[in-house]
Amino acid sequence: MLVVMRHDAREDQIRAVVALISSMGFEARPIPGRQRTTVGVIGNDGRVDGTRLAALEGVQEVIHVTKPYKQVSREWRPEPTIVRLSGGLTIGGDEIVVMAGPCSVEGERQTIEAARLVRDAGATMLRAGAFKPRSSPYSFQGLGRSGLAMLARAREETGLLVVTEAMDAEGVDAVGAVADMIQIGARNMQNYSLLKSAARAGKPILLKRGFSATIQELLLSAEYILAEGNPDVVLCERGIRGFDTVTRNMMDLSAVPVVHALSHLPIIADPSHGTGRRDMVIPMARAAVAAGADGLLVEVHPTPERALSDGAQTLDVEQFKQLMREARPIAEAIGRRVAEPVGARA
Ligand code: PEP
Ligand code: MN
Repeated sequence: MLVVMRHDAREDQIRAVVALISSMGFEARPIPGRQRTTVGVIGNDGRVDGTRLAALEGVQEVIHVTKPYKQVSREWRPEPTIVRLSGGLTIGGDEIVVMAGPCSVEGERQTIEAARLVRDAGATMLRAGAFKPRSSPYSFQGLGRSGLAMLARAREETGLLVVTEAMDAEGVDAVGAVADMIQIGARNMQNYSLLKSAARAGKPILLKRGFSATIQELLLSAEYILAEGNPDVVLCERGIRGFDTVTRNMMDLSAVPVVHALSHLPIIADPSHGTGRRDMVIPMARAAVAAGADGLLVEVHPTPERALSDGAQTLDVEQFKQLMREARPIAEAIGRRVAEPVGARA
C-alpha cells in the first residue's frame, strides 16, 4: 500500500502518517519524489485499514499496489532508479554503462591486461568472475579468493570499477570487500538466502535473470533485495532457455521495455551469455542499446581461444572496439550516450 501525500503536505503531516502506520505494526518508508512524498507500507499483508490513513491531513490518496512485487514496481516509485557507483558512475540515467572483461579471472597478468584493453576501448567497469558457477563440476571453477585480490589489483592499475559474482552467503563478505557491484548469477537468481545476504553487504547488486525465470520472478527476486533495505539493484537480461540449439540461449530483448514499464529499476543486457556465440554478440549488443538497455555486459579476453571459460562467446579486443564504435551512435539516436571511463570523467 502507498500513501500519496499532497504536493503541499507538511513534514509534520508526513510524520503523522508514518506514526499511524508504525502504530498499526507495519514499517513505513517515506519516498520523497520530485512532486510529492509517498509513504510506502512495508509488510502489508492486506490487514492495513486504508481509510484511517486516507482520513489524515495532507494525504491525497491511498493506492493498493496490485502487483505481487511492491517496492520494485513503477506504482511504488514512478521515477527511474539511478544506481550510483563510486567515481560518479551511474546506471539508469542517460548514460549506458559497459561492463566488460573475461568470463573468469584466470591469473593476475591476464586480468590486468584484459582490464587495460577494455578500458582503452571505452568500458567503464571490469566484469570477471573469481567464483564461477559452472554446469560441470569438472570445468574450471574459478580462482576464488585469490582471484578477488587480482581484481582489486586490476582496479588499482586501471581505475575501472569491478563487478564480480558472489555464489554463496559465505562468500558474500569477501566479494563485497572488493567489488564495486556484486553480481548474482542466473543460477542463483532464486537463491533467496543469498539474495538477502548480498543485499546486506552494502554494495549495489547486479541481478541476472534465471534462464527459466519469468520477468515476474525476476522482479520478485529483486524485491527480496529491496525488502532487505538495499535499493541499488540493476537487473540483467542474459537469455532464457529456448528450444532452438543454434544459440546457447534465447536473448529476450523484450524484457528491457517490459521491465522499464513494470519497474523503476535499471536493466542491462548480456549478449555474450544471451547468444553464446561470438558472431552474434555485436548485433545483439546493438539491438539491446536500441531497445533501451541501461548497460551492456560483454565478455572480452586478450586471447579468447585460450579462455578457460566461455571462449566461444568471448570477443577479442578488436571486436570489442567495433562493438563500442557501433553502440555509440545508436545510443545517441535515442537521446543517450555511452558512459566514458571513470578516469576520463570531468
Ligand atoms: C557469467 O556472468 O559469467 C555467468 C556465469 O553468467 P550467468 O549467471 O548469466 O550464466
Ligand atoms: Mn561467462
